[in-house]
Amino acid sequence: MSYSLSYDNDSRLIVSGLSCGCPCDHEEVTQDIYVGNDILKNIPRYIRKQNLGKRCTLVADNITWEVAGRTVCELLEADEVTVDRCIIRRDEPMEPDERACGEVLLSVFPETEFLVSVGSGSITDVTRVNATRLHLPQVCVGTAPSMDGYTSAVCPLILNGVKIHRPGKCPEIIVCDIDVLKTAPLTMICSGVGDVLGKYIAKADWMIGNIINDEPYCPTCGQLVTDAVNKLITHVDEIKEKTDEGIRILTEALLLAGMTIMIIGHTRAVASVEHNISHYWDMIQLQRGNKPPQHGDSVGVATLLVWPMFTRFAKEDLSKLDLEDIRSRRMTREEREAWMVRTYGEEGGRSIMRENPEDFLTWEEQERRIRRAQERFTDIKACIDAMPPFEAVYGVMERLGACLTPEDCGIDEDLLNLSMHCAKDYRSRYSLFKLLDECGMLDEYLKEYQITK
Ligand SMILES: [Zn+2]
Ligand SMILES: [Zn+2]
Repeated sequence: MSYSLSYDNDSRLIVSGLSCGCPCDHEEVTQDIYVGNDILKNIPRYIRKQNLGKRCTLVADNITWEVAGRTVCELLEADEVTVDRCIIRRDEPMEPDERACGEVLLSVFPETEFLVSVGSGSITDVTRVNATRLHLPQVCVGTAPSMDGYTSAVCPLILNGVKIHRPGKCPEIIVCDIDVLKTAPLTMICSGVGDVLGKYIAKADWMIGNIINDEPYCPTCGQLVTDAVNKLITHVDEIKEKTDEGIRILTEALLLAGMTIMIIGHTRAVASVEHNISHYWDMIQLQRGNKPPQHGDSVGVATLLVWPMFTRFAKEDLSKLDLEDIRSRRMTREEREAWMVRTYGEEGGRSIMRENPEDFLTWEEQERRIRRAQERFTDIKACIDAMPPFEAVYGVMERLGACLTPEDCGIDEDLLNLSMHCAKDYRSRYSLFKLLDECGMLDEYLKEYQITK
């Protein structure tokens, strides 16, 4: 298991040696991902290399149009590509909602051969969902290293004020010009860092899932992400000063994290309970008619919130667990249903339960998991001990001036308290939070997050 990263003469990222003997199915990454300085000018050539065609719709918002959209448009027109423009104009930052998706759809013609998105998360996603449904290739031109979604295959969108996820595909060509990304405001860069730091939690949870439930774990993907995050931690000042090196390290970390989704076909390596908390905040804020926080900001803050639970668990003595006591405190199926409906709403709660039927455990299964945790505690502890010290991660965000607390993300105490208790229930993906719950310890760990059940 030793992969290597390199670039060809065209600034195309090459990751080799990705094969490993793990039980996961590995897909080869076929997308062309370019990272480098002053590479926007190569876009027409990148497109010709893949024979994408001569007519496209270019999607940007009023900000990204000025940052890079206009330049890309001129470069393509100079290369005799017909460009239909879809510039989404908003006074506030654009939301990836039905209106934005519709604007893209109505800017596509029967003759359109490919789509070009110029922007970060929202622009990429509203273009991605259209490219997927219309079976058209997509060229993604990144404008900010603010999230790991460039290489993703899922579109987080908003429909009728509710957050939804729709399947998508990874853009065929991704262009990250360091000179463009450097112009992104520091707040967006902080958000990218927050999204990346969450990967430590995702990895620990994935390994715990492997230990408790024999869930397949891919050490290559795990290592790919960890190496990228570790590198980021040691280059915070460069990132803050937006040097070429700093922006490249952050961009590579985001792209490589996203790339694991293509390799193993799921987001296990990049998202766990910290992302669930962030989704929950988005969901409730939208319901309340408030603006949801920037994705990476909330992931970063949630990472800081859950981190101490991991370090505390590593010091536990599970041999002391009283199984009869745990059994007597178990939620009944009815109590669990009521809890899910209360926290996720009638529709949301019921659909989560439908999609994750195995989430209501029999006592036999719960007992098996507790016993496995007791037997394999040394291995669980090793996963947690492999995480960097909390202070190091906190220090990165502090030095950048990133959001550090839920209040910084506009999250009030009620929402915080509720989210800490219910985020583990968002999906059946295993996590330390689920293990704590199954061992009857979660409420004790969350004592400071007051909630009456
Ligand atoms: Zn994320
Ligand atoms: Zn593998």
